[in-house]
Amino acid sequence: MERRARLFIVSGPAGVGKGTLVSRVRSMRPLLGLPVSATTRDPRPGEVDGEAYHFLVEEEFQRRIEKGEFLEWAQVHDHRYGTLKSEVDACLERGESVILEIDVQGGYSVKRLFPDAVLIFVEPPSWDTLVERLKGRGTESAESLALRLQTARKELEQADTYDVRIVNDNLEEATEELARTLEKYERN
Ligand code: 5GP
Repeated sequence: MERRARLFIVSGPAGVGKGTLVSRVRSMRPLLGLPVSATTRDPRPGEVDGEAYHFLVEEEFQRRIEKGEFLEWAQVHDHRYGTLKSEVDACLERGESVILEIDVQGGYSVKRLFPDAVLIFVEPPSWDTLVERLKGRGTESAESLALRLQTARKELEQADTYDVRIVNDNLEEATEELARTLEKYERN
């Protein structure tokens, strides 16, 4: 059966493991497009500019908004994050599906522009697991942790507005489920 390239949006609270899931699916399907977002936050240890994100100073981010370079952008926690049109176009030109790993506000913005986009929400098995994972990641200050948990509560309330929900309890199973979801929609 024919497969067609689709635009997928993966959202979910910080610490839910969506980045890991997406990179695992990508290793199964290397051609899958994963545009690199821009952000005004500082890189975490090990994050490479141009790979994890394009790390931009506020003024540069603002300049790019004014030049209309973003497909969408949103204020998440205390920083700005945005999807660059150029990154998405480069992926779409290859005729492959594209995954955007963005927050719920960004997800809704993209869905308005591309009603055919598929919204996938990644959920933790429980609230306590999420808190543990986020603490265990050890990348956040107490203040940043509190902010991320506050945002997580709000995001979890919006899960049922998404087309597909995946519970990330077992990484192996959740990866399979995400891969199956992509294939299902590509055949639709
Ligand atoms: P983190 O700082 O942990 O890398 O990401 C924080 C949040 O920003 C996550 O929920 C992530 O999905 C979201 N995010 C990352 N890139 C983008 C983007 O380009 N646009 C939007 N709207 N959200 C993004």
